[in-house]
Formats: sequence, structure tokens, C-alpha cells
Amino acid sequence: MYKAPRGTFDILPQEHACWKYVEEKAAFLCRLYGYQPLSTPIFEDAQVFAKTVAGGTDIIDKEMYIFKDKSGQELALRAEGTAPVCRAYLEHGLFNLPQPVKLYYIGPAFRYERPQSGRYRQHHQFGFEALGEADPALDAEVIEMAQQFFYSLGLPQLTIHLNSIGCKLCRPRYLVVLKQHYSSYMDQLCPDCKARLVKNPLRLLDCKKVSCQEIAKTAPKIPDYLCHECQIHFQSVQEYLGAVSIPFQLNPRLVRGLDYYTRTVFEIEPREAGGQSTLGGGGRYDHLIEELGGRPTPAVGFATGLERIILNLKNQRLDIPPLPKPDVFIAYLEQEAKIEAMKIASELRREGIPVIMATGDKSLKGQMRQANSLDIAYALILGEQELLQRTAMLRDMRSGEQKSIPLTEIAGFLKQFKM
Ligand code: AMP
Repeated sequence: MYKAPRGTFDILPQEHACWKYVEEKAAFLCRLYGYQPLSTPIFEDAQVFAKTVAGGTDIIDKEMYIFKDKSGQELALRAEGTAPVCRAYLEHGLFNLPQPVKLYYIGPAFRYERPQSGRYRQHHQFGFEALGEADPALDAEVIEMAQQFFYSLGLPQLTIHLNSIGCKLCRPRYLVVLKQHYSSYMDQLCPDCKARLVKNPLRLLDCKKVSCQEIAKTAPKIPDYLCHECQIHFQSVQEYLGAVSIPFQLNPRLVRGLDYYTRTVFEIEPREAGGQSTLGGGGRYDHLIEELGGRPTPAVGFATGLERIILNLKNQRLDIPPLPKPDVFIAYLEQEAKIEAMKIASELRREGIPVIMATGDKSLKGQMRQANSLDIAYALILGEQELLQRTAMLRDMRSGEQKSIPLTEIAGFLKQFKM
């Protein structure tokens, strides 16, 4: 028996109510804030990620699904959503539109990770990006939007962690003192952190190992090393967040997994955090578009994982509206009635009434059992008697009440019922 590949899973019909709920909330939120949908291919030129998600991050080093197609071109499955959005922004000249351009996406992302609860090799991200604007008010709006998204889903118990990781000017100064700090603990660092010290020192602060976290606790704090402009920007983001009453926690050790961030970074966690708990994160990435060959273009965005949201919704046992069921089940007694049943099913569907018709020559009892198991409200039953009289029996599956109606009146009758 084949199985879905390790770290991936099927989303069965009964799960889809939850997915639809989250996706609809996402689309509504984007409408509220003026973000438009963008869909990008599931794979990109591998360089789109290699150039932007710089080396030294886990994603590039270990997690990308990279392959060559038959022409020898190196492609990568989408590892995250931001770089493809920026690629599309450049490719379609969206920088010529009034800025910022506000876009959102929902789709799968692929990372070769060690699968565990909340961490998969294929997961789905909802993200939104505002491109072409440096205003700190936009950073605050993106954070507010992320918070409002979780709030609208019924997940209000969150902590927003906020930090600034500076810019190309001030960050190098900080990295010098950070490296000095960590160098004096060299023999206590985990092997990954030893590599980070050389390749990507900012991520030292992000190590989940307890011993490395101890070292991070006494590390110099990046907000103390920000240049004047970055300080003002960070201050303004906090003021705007205050203005819209968004609570946040300053976290001077917060850095993001992806390397392209500048200034504002933030992450959102459920209150009782732990393990693979981060619900989403984002920040400003003022150099990414330039890395992809565009003019210097400031931008800010956020992404969240749908699987983790759904895990949280399930943990909270929130009432998710079920997917709509078909209105009517059509059952019949013999071949002649079956042909009539086909006609009625077809007519009703053309009238916009969702119908399931019995197939497979089951007994009437078997057909009704099927209608019951599908939890359909009404059954239309066609027998010999009904055919002669050009009628059908309409049965309310909950109360068991039955009533005969002329075939020509079924659609009108069901519509006025509008279950
Ligand atoms: P990132 O692009 O790493 O900032 O991820 C954005 C969000 O996607 C995270 O906060 C998670 O909610 C989710 N996410 C990232 N990686 C995975 C994964 N391997 N499995 C499930 N969800 C993930």
C-alpha cells in the first residue's frame, strides 16, 4: 500500500470545513485591509530562494526541495511565500503602480524538516505583503492585521513578540559584539551554533538548545545598538501599535529564521506556548527586492501556517460551521423510476438545488440508509405508484413525515423550502 510521503498528509472531506473557515477569514481580512490575491507557481527558479533566503539559514542549507528539470534548469519547490511575491512584483512591473502594493497568498510550502506535530514537509501558508513603502505605520498595520486575523478566528489568547534587528548600517556593529560574547563560550556551544557563529551569527539568539539559550540570556541586546533612524522607526512602530491598542512584548532576542529581514521583526505565539508553537511571524525586508534585481524597495509582511492554526482551533474546541450538505437525496424502486430519477436530479441541479442520486441498484432500504448516513434533510422517493401519477414522495429525513408532490412542482417546492 502506498502512503502519503513522510511529513505530508491528505486533507479529508471532514477536515475541509476547518480549512474553508480559515481561508474565508483570511480572504475577508485581506479585503478589510485592501490586500489583493496573488498566486505564484509551486516551483521557482532555485535562485529566487537561494539569493534571498541567504546561506547559513536552515532552509537553504538543509530544507529546500531542489531539482533539475529535463532541460537542466535548477528549480525549487516553494519554500516560503515572500520571495516569490517579490519576484512577481518585479516581473510584472508592479512597482509602477501607486505604492505600497498590497498582496496576499494562500498555498503550500515545502521544507525537508524532521516531521512532528505542527511541523511538516508540506505545509500551507497564508501570508500578506505590502511592497514599496517604508512608513513604520505599515509595520504596525501588518502586525495589527495579523492579530485581527487570529482574533477573528476565535484565537485571541496570543502573545506578540516584537523586536528590531536594525539595518545594514547598524547590524554589523552589533554582530561584532555578539560574536565576541559567544566566542567566550565556544566550548559550550552546540555544533549548529558553532557554525552559526561563522555563517549567520544573528541566528545564535534563536537556538532552541537549553545550554545555548543560557548564553543568549546574557548576550548584548540588538535594540541597544540600533542607529538613530532604526531607533526612530522602532519607536514609531510601537507608538502606532499603542494607538490601535495592540498589546505586544518587546523581545530583544527575537530574530527570524529567514535572513532577509531588516528593522521590525515579530512573531505570534499562543499564550500557552511550547514546541512547534509559533503561529506566525513577519517583519520588514527592505533589501529583498534589490537582491532579486529590482531597485531598492522597502517592504513588510507576515506569514502564518494553516496547519498550526487548525491545531489550535481543535485544541480550543471551537465550533466551526460545517460544510453545506446536499439538500435532497433521490431514491427509486426500479429501472423505469431510475430513469425518471436521473431526469429529476438533473433538472434540480440546473435549478441550483444540490442533489445526490442513489446509484448501484440498492434496495430502497439500502438507499434510505445511505441518505441517513449522508445526513441529508430530504429524500425524494420514486416508486411505481408515483410514476403512474407523475408525482414523487418527499420525505423529511429528520421527522419521517412524507408528502406526495407532482413532478412538475418539485423544484419550486424545494426552493420555497430552501433548506
Ligand atoms: P516562516 O516562513 O518560517 O516564517 O513560517 C511562517 C509560519 O509557517 C510559521 O510561523 C508556522 O506557523 C508555519 N510553518 C513554518 N514551517 C512549518 C512546517 N514545517 N510545518 C508546519 N508549519 C510551518
